[in-house]
Amino acid sequence: MRRFISITLALNLLLSLTACFGPPVDPDTVQESIQVIAMDTAMLISTYGKRSTAAAYASEDLIRDLEAQLSRTEEDSEVSRLNAADGRPTEVGPDLAALLTAAEEYRADTGGAFDITVAPVVSAWGFTEDSFRVPAQAELETLLEKVDGSAVRVERTAGGCTAALAPGQSADLGGIAKGYAADKLADLFREYEIPRAIATLGGNVLAWGDRPDGTAWRVGVQDPARPDEQNGFVGILNLKNSFAVTSGGYQRYFEEDGRTYHHIIDPATGYPADSDLTSVTVVAEVLPPDAEQLYGPGTMCDALSTALFVMGREQALNFWTSRKNAFDLVLVTKDGEIYVTGGIAEDFVFDEESGYAYPVLVK
Ligand code: ADP
Ligand code: MG
Repeated sequence: MRRFISITLALNLLLSLTACFGPPVDPDTVQESIQVIAMDTAMLISTYGKRSTAAAYASEDLIRDLEAQLSRTEEDSEVSRLNAADGRPTEVGPDLAALLTAAEEYRADTGGAFDITVAPVVSAWGFTEDSFRVPAQAELETLLEKVDGSAVRVERTAGGCTAALAPGQSADLGGIAKGYAADKLADLFREYEIPRAIATLGGNVLAWGDRPDGTAWRVGVQDPARPDEQNGFVGILNLKNSFAVTSGGYQRYFEEDGRTYHHIIDPATGYPADSDLTSVTVVAEVLPPDAEQLYGPGTMCDALSTALFVMGREQALNFWTSRKNAFDLVLVTKDGEIYVTGGIAEDFVFDEESGYAYPVLVK
């Protein structure tokens, strides 16, 4: 296991200087950062406060533990055992049970645009093992017969939980697991009394509290046309105590015969979603702790960012209108438009140099 902790050098220096000469530095303004390569992405977690070091280490342990349970490429993960069981119930821990329950909620809610049983199709395109290919139509049609998240069963028993898929099905939690991890990080930050933190788990961001100077965290919304540019943003979201999750076809893709194929699959066709969107960002506030809730807004943002990308602009905005208070959106379309929904109108700062049309405010 690789651990990589860094305290900002300047702050280190400041600490040692003030130890001799000045007033003590407020620990709520000292940052601890840990980088974790997990869940197929690079993660960076920065914590502040008296227990920031312990919280950073605990964050890494939490993510590694989740990955060990949920990875579908590690043979003895819980998910791999579930996928190999060919329809028989297997024992699952509370995390996988919660995720399967959440996945079903969002599948039903999005009319099947989000469906974890799309796994065999994702694999056929080579996104699971990085061995990209374009599957034949007949192959996709056969695989699609097994795609139906409503067949997944989760049962709470006296000793714990069991879960079962339908025979021949498998599940892929890649579209929801990082959001769930972000929810668990929020619980951890609360437990460690972390006053402020920023966690970037690939496209999943948790902006916890505010910045040391009391202003909001600044979360860039990547310009899908410039995926490799570090500061290639369409705009910045100013966020406190919020989750922000972006899905886009630009994040993982391959090219063949002049066509681009990305990793978000439309469960209705078996093809990469061919909507009029290039990215979807879903934003929701951190909620107070609730022991009854198995998963929270981070999980919701992740599932919905994937689903709304599949659904396309019109359906995504209708979906938002019917559930306005639960989350907000930044949509980027193929023809260069940006849509921002009412709840974050004040928080989104458009980059006028980005080449996009001025954002359309959706009320
Ligand atoms: P990322 O994981 O790149 O941040 P997403 O959250 O949008 O992006 O998840 C995409 C991943 O989810 C894919 O790599 C695949 O494992 C899985 N997936 C693809 N299409 C769907 C879908 N329609 N419903 C649920 N999961 C999907
Ligand atoms: Mg997602």
